[in-house]
Amino acid sequence: MRPPVEVSARAVCAGAALAAACLTWPLAAQQAPVRPTAATRAPMLQGPAAGEVEVLPVRGNIFVLFGAGNNITFSVGVDGALLVDAGRPEMADKVIAAVRRTHAEWLDLNRPKGLGFGAETRSSVADRAILAPPKPIRYIVNTHSHPDAVGANERLRNAGRTYAGGNVAGDIRDSGEGAAILAHENVLKRLSAPGEGKPAPHADALPTDTYYVESYKLSHFFNGEGVQLIHLPAAHSDGDSMVHFRTNDVIALGDLMSTRTFPVIDLEAGGSINGIVDGLNRVLDMAISEFRLEGGTMMVPGEGRVVDSGDVAYYRDMVTIVRDRVLDLVKKGRSLEEVKASRPTIDYPHFEARSGPWTTDMFVEAVYKSLGGGKAPAPAPAPAATRPGGRR
Ligand SMILES: [Zn+2]
Repeated sequence: MRPPVEVSARAVCAGAALAAACLTWPLAAQQAPVRPTAATRAPMLQGPAAGEVEVLPVRGNIFVLFGAGNNITFSVGVDGALLVDAGRPEMADKVIAAVRRTHAEWLDLNRPKGLGFGAETRSSVADRAILAPPKPIRYIVNTHSHPDAVGANERLRNAGRTYAGGNVAGDIRDSGEGAAILAHENVLKRLSAPGEGKPAPHADALPTDTYYVESYKLSHFFNGEGVQLIHLPAAHSDGDSMVHFRTNDVIALGDLMSTRTFPVIDLEAGGSINGIVDGLNRVLDMAISEFRLEGGTMMVPGEGRVVDSGDVAYYRDMVTIVRDRVLDLVKKGRSLEEVKASRPTIDYPHFEARSGPWTTDMFVEAVYKSLGGGKAPAPAPAPAATRPGGRR
């Protein structure tokens, strides 16, 4: 049975405390630190009610929205909003409303302060702090191609806007319409692949910008920081991206990790257990903790609560231990039933599940198949021919 409490007070409090105490907007050091607002209720000890969404601050101008499918990590600020994943389509209205509210509140809390001095003849525009209304969603990143991540692409794209460069603005017909959708090219391939009985997706639901190399950087600072997409080959799927907000040092992990279940491995979409282990090690390479694996770089898994290096290291150790146990049995030629009966996950009951979308049996089976289990062993090599004279 799954534990009823999905969110650790420790890590979320750490996240909220960091957000409240540590950070200032990098463009203007004198501005007020971000803090929970009417759009947020922190600390969150359990997920939002079904059909509801909830927003928590992670750090600076980075927030996370729970309850719309995959967790949506998002950046708000003077340049607009950037969302990592879109969530399910039926939640799109609530996501758009929550992002807009958070965005407006953040801008309001961080409005430029007046100088506090000056003669009446001097301009007081800064004192009046007249702010333009928040810009719309400018970018949506798809961490992979599952419906929980991309379902609301079309709705969110059409609620947003791309600002095209000056000399092409008049040439591209829809250059001013809709947010850009960024993803690894395998996401576009999977979403646009024809399937039996599958309706062709609307063009607005597909990524507009893809990459095929190891990483992809936004070509310019967005809301005061660099944003980098990093490809995780063959992990949850073959098109996984994690997203690093480099100044705030927050990483959106996609479905590489969940704090509720063992990692979901979509074998048909090119996922593998070794890719998951490699991806978690990559995250730990990038992360720097504040003190003894606590705090520092904050990570947002696709499902569950916000985590830090200690959480990821524990998860990496667990996944590696289970992988090695199963690998040992695969090498001994054991059947899937024998591997399941050996209970390779026995030390981690809080991640085990007998029912639901990702059971322990499904995980063990995916690990087993991913490591080549159940396949006929390769034929033994033929003995080397004996040369005349008895020498080989
Ligand atoms: Zn997924």
